[in-house]
Amino acid sequence: MYYIDPHNHMVSRVTDDYERLARAGCVAVSEPAFWAGFDRGSAESFRDYFRHLTEFEPKRAAQYGIKHYCWVCINAKEAENVSLAREVIAILPEFLDRPNCLGVGEIGLNKNTRNEAIIFLEQVDLAARHNELILVHTPHLEDKYQGTRMILDMLRGDSRIRPEKVLIDHVEEHTIRYALEEGYWVGMTLYPVTKCTPQRAADMVEMYGTERIMVNSAGDWGPSNPLAVTDFIHEMRMRGHSEETIRKIVYENPLAFFSQCPRWQFESPLAATA
Ligand SMILES: [Zn+2]
Repeated sequence: MYYIDPHNHMVSRVTDDYERLARAGCVAVSEPAFWAGFDRGSAESFRDYFRHLTEFEPKRAAQYGIKHYCWVCINAKEAENVSLAREVIAILPEFLDRPNCLGVGEIGLNKNTRNEAIIFLEQVDLAARHNELILVHTPHLEDKYQGTRMILDMLRGDSRIRPEKVLIDHVEEHTIRYALEEGYWVGMTLYPVTKCTPQRAADMVEMYGTERIMVNSAGDWGPSNPLAVTDFIHEMRMRGHSEETIRKIVYENPLAFFSQCPRWQFESPLAATA
């Protein structure tokens, strides 16, 4: 089955992973800007990172027939350094117009601090002024519930933000309902150690339906599986869900969300066979 991975950190992956993704049916990836595992020393490091995301990765993906898209921002962890974060925000407009850039993300909260909230709001403002899509990282484990509520409160506080243009990512059983009820798209992250398993993701689909729900692998530099979406497809098939139901979650939903960005120029391989 063809699918789109809406959250995959390909800068952390080897070229063989692109080949494996292509063989598994992945036709497009979207790569949010994230924490590299260490705090970067200057805004220039971020400029180089954004060049990596907008210049090098699309070429590497294209060798295997995969379309590569990305998002730019200062991530929640490094947002704790407000002055550095503001320097990075100042260079974002240089990259928002790049052909493979889908918007501002993954912004959000990490430890739910005041500084993180300040920088989150400044990036929401940037996205609103540029009419960009937003991809939101919700915190890990014990910080997730409170952080998700804080994020939804902050988004609700900006009347320019339309929920259908925002993806709330890394939702779990105790947060998914709040994001869906307010009209946002949600992403379930399939992760071997923390976050969500394919089985739990399938359970949530059975509880909440298929509207505005996506799954992703978040393949990154930690213990993660860049092909995790295929494990979800397998789990759904084993439970007897139809190919149409599965395709809506792993292909049509990301397609519908991303299509709101004018730079999303994607030719579906399904159109060629229809
Ligand atoms: Zn991520």
